[in-house]
Amino acid sequence: MQPSKRVFIASIATETNTFSPMRTDLQDFHDSFYAPPGTHPATPTLCSAVYTAARAGAVELGWEIIEGTASWAEPGGVVNQSTWDFLRDQLLEELAAAGPVDIVLLGLHGAMVAQDTIDCEGELLALVRAQVATNAIIGVTFDPHSHLSHRRVENADLITVFKEFPHTDFVETAEDLVRLAAAAAAGETRPEISTFDCRMIEIFPTSREPMRGFVDRVRRMEGKGDVLSISVIHGFMAGDVPDLGAKVIVITDGAKRAGDAMAARLGKELFGLRGRTRPEFLGLDEGLDRACAAKAGPVVIADVWDNPGGGVPGDSTTLLRAMLARGMHNVALASIWDPIAVRTCFSAGEGACLRLRFGAKMAEGCGEPLDADVIVRRTRRSAVQSFGASIVPIGDAAWIEVGGIDVILNSVRSQVFSPDIFSNMGIDPEKKSVLAVKSTNHFHGAFAPMAADILYLSIDGPYPNDPATNRYTRLTRDIWPKVKNPHET
Ligand SMILES: [Zn+2]
Repeated sequence: MQPSKRVFIASIATETNTFSPMRTDLQDFHDSFYAPPGTHPATPTLCSAVYTAARAGAVELGWEIIEGTASWAEPGGVVNQSTWDFLRDQLLEELAAAGPVDIVLLGLHGAMVAQDTIDCEGELLALVRAQVATNAIIGVTFDPHSHLSHRRVENADLITVFKEFPHTDFVETAEDLVRLAAAAAAGETRPEISTFDCRMIEIFPTSREPMRGFVDRVRRMEGKGDVLSISVIHGFMAGDVPDLGAKVIVITDGAKRAGDAMAARLGKELFGLRGRTRPEFLGLDEGLDRACAAKAGPVVIADVWDNPGGGVPGDSTTLLRAMLARGMHNVALASIWDPIAVRTCFSAGEGACLRLRFGAKMAEGCGEPLDADVIVRRTRRSAVQSFGASIVPIGDAAWIEVGGIDVILNSVRSQVFSPDIFSNMGIDPEKKSVLAVKSTNHFHGAFAPMAADILYLSIDGPYPNDPATNRYTRLTRDIWPKVKNPHET
């Protein structure tokens, strides 16, 4: 019987769109999710599933768990430097106060950029490494929409990444990390991380081929021979950082050369899928033509780029204006972020009719604010939606009716994950002909079972959606599609 392992867990997560007009500070973490030591709920959030996974494994593994703070801010703009300094130092102080530990497990997103710190997670992992015993195991979970720097790989023993996009496997990813860390700390395995730089940036939904098959095959390779774990970093095209792009991670049990070869093989295979992984993106008119012509509903139309989950404000009115101009009806849209308009709706009260200005206040390219006669159908304090086992706040929210279209206005930014964003406000999504959602693909898992059809609309806005022309200033290497074949140069 081995002595019980002392395990420190913590989570700091957000995704930074360096092109966004938003800025992210401590209040944004408090608005989305902030759990001081010992207060993390029994349900996991996307990046803090290490808490529930480690707690669940503690008895079986004989772990003594010391919890640090867990925090998450909705993706936004560059993080205020003092906010990052505070969160980082707080974690390091909590780690120091924990005393000697055998294992550190961190739930990070991996695409956080602060004003003067380009690689927040790399800095954090290096500082954690410097603070713990040389034989302590450091494990981290990342979101695939992140950047993998050498500094992170150098300072972590284990990295697991959500394999699915939508990230339906965030709990499983944390459970994998717990299992791998337990084996490594017990001396049963000697993890070695191999990586391959695919030198590309693309969107890789796993809800469709060819990524579906790629991920299924990767899963079958895990646990065979010396292969402990395989992950794919998709990259995040709205983060201007040197490490932007897709990378493959293979963790072997002491078989670095074989791991390097496998990472290269899988990475080149992924590179071979470039340009073929994203769903068909329709233009605004084409998409609405198809939605209007549909024989059955609800047709789900995704405004893929005005996705607050990608760090933009999420207050574009372009899609809503186009639907109003067509006189579309029996349509619901979630959501337009406008805390001031929400406040006004609360003041007016349920049932009130008023002239309201809403939307398009935060960025160029979001259209113009709408000035319209609206009816306030419902108001809700601290409204939420679900994302798998996770509960996601959207803040105080109002359901307004404008020109026959039901629109949810929210005050805490969030992309749409689940139809319950509608039903929690009193709108029955099943009865609608068209459901318009602001999300790139995370909506897919929960909406697909009820959707008659799903259409992806590419509407230009503040999101830097074309990596070939995005103005990257920090890239230090060639990537596709900026160059045709970066592996030849
Ligand atoms: Zn992601």
